[in-house]
Amino acid sequence: MRPIRVGDIVVHPVNDGTAVLLPENWANSDWTEHQHLLDADGRIQMPIGTFLARIGDRLVLLDAGVGVVSSEMFEGGLLLGNLAALGVQPGDIDTIVISHLHSDHMGWVERDGAPVFTNATVHIGAADWAHFVDNLGDGRRRASRLQAIESQVQLIDGDGVTILPGLTTRATPGHTPGHTSTVISSGDERLIVLGDAIHCPAQLTEVDWEFIYDVDPTLARRTRAALLQEAEMPGTALLPCHFPGLQAARLLPGAGTRRWVLSGE
Ligand SMILES: [Zn+2]
Repeated sequence: MRPIRVGDIVVHPVNDGTAVLLPENWANSDWTEHQHLLDADGRIQMPIGTFLARIGDRLVLLDAGVGVVSSEMFEGGLLLGNLAALGVQPGDIDTIVISHLHSDHMGWVERDGAPVFTNATVHIGAADWAHFVDNLGDGRRRASRLQAIESQVQLIDGDGVTILPGLTTRATPGHTPGHTSTVISSGDERLIVLGDAIHCPAQLTEVDWEFIYDVDPTLARRTRAALLQEAEMPGTALLPCHFPGLQAARLLPGAGTRRWVLSGE
């Protein structure tokens, strides 16, 4: 998978596996114009993305995959091997930001009750911690896995929190209550790493579609619309966690029409 450049910073897509979704997972959807996104069985296969970046003297991982899982929806477990191929061991990573606490974004933070990234601070949206851990939003097992790494966790409270120079958070609620994107900036370029604020390329143009796993679909739609509009700013790209090839989306400046391109450069 091709690295993405943001000014002086190189962002490496690191895949953990594959998620399989169905067209009906999006409400109000009509896939006539998006057949190329479907496989031979009419399903949508997506990578389970995480992103690695060295920013200053820090080594940052954005999202943490699904882990060693084999289910109808997820096939995972590639993250540590793919990090090793980039010369990175789990103990090298000092900063992790988790976009939200669904299983395919926090899967590797813990294994068998012990932290995997032993030297990392794990930044998580406070509202997601309240929803998934305090209020058991996805059940007791998810909550107890997260409690196992509680000493590493730093909760993100509010919007626009600077994690380190060049890396700030952006509250993008809706998919989950504390869903958090991260903005990587260098020079006059910005990359907004979206987590699951947008899932599939069709949603770049199909603004009425709603994803059935959004905790608050109306809020998610509003958040998505704001992000799609923000992409109009020069030097701005959007990087969701499940786009084909883990590519970034950029809006081509043009007269009247909104044309999106996906690319690593
Ligand atoms: Zn996801």
